[in-house]
Amino acid sequence: MAKILKINGLEKTYKSGSKQLTVLHDISFEVEKGQTFSIVGPSGSGKTTLLGLCAGLDEPNAGSVDLCGYTLNTLNEDERAQLRNQEVGFIFQNFQLLPTLTALENVSVPLELQGAKDAATRAKELLEKVGLGDRVQHYPSQLSGGEQQRVALARAFSNRPSILFADEPTGNLDEETGEKVIQLLLDLNKDAGTTLVIITHDLDLAARTQQILTLKGGQILTNETTATS
Ligand code: ADP
Repeated sequence: MAKILKINGLEKTYKSGSKQLTVLHDISFEVEKGQTFSIVGPSGSGKTTLLGLCAGLDEPNAGSVDLCGYTLNTLNEDERAQLRNQEVGFIFQNFQLLPTLTALENVSVPLELQGAKDAATRAKELLEKVGLGDRVQHYPSQLSGGEQQRVALARAFSNRPSILFADEPTGNLDEETGEKVIQLLLDLNKDAGTTLVIITHDLDLAARTQQILTLKGGQILTNETTATS
């Protein structure tokens, strides 16, 4: 099976004042193309830091990340940004929509910035796909949490990513709304073959992915295949 993400010997140290805190120790694992993969572990165990390193948003102190066939530390910042624009989608717990843009603009503006000519039409199609065809002119403040997260999903899908990183995508949603978002993510995996890497506290959600990596104190505790795979 082709590997879309290969992590080898990652180490990350943060400096705070004169102190150094190593929050990831010798992390190695692989994600197959098209796989659904979750990262679980207690708060502070290094999950968000690891996701940022996997996506090339931050640099490790040691070790390497191969993403979509590129070794990230051999790319400059522009090349990493280009790889992210072309291949990677992101979803965050707090949605991170731009408050001054409508739902439609939150999806279409990034597409326009990437040079898409049919940005508005595509954005409308994407919003219809996530069930928000009647909310395109609403601003984030006029949308519920679940609706905002679905706009964020439409935005994350818009560049047809090969891999989507999600940091607690259902963390701020009630159970029923969270389930809708999970279903959209799993459908994306099934229909488009998008690889999913999801940080979650929800062990039921983790069990619905094919592989679960458990972190504790910045180290890998287990890396197990689930019954779903
Ligand atoms: P998790 O996502 O599992 O809650 P994080 O990756 O957010 O864990 O954090 C892991 C550890 O790194 C925590 O102790 C946190 O306080 C620390 N940390 C995270 N980001 C920074 C930063 N920018 N500077 C210093 N310490 C940080």
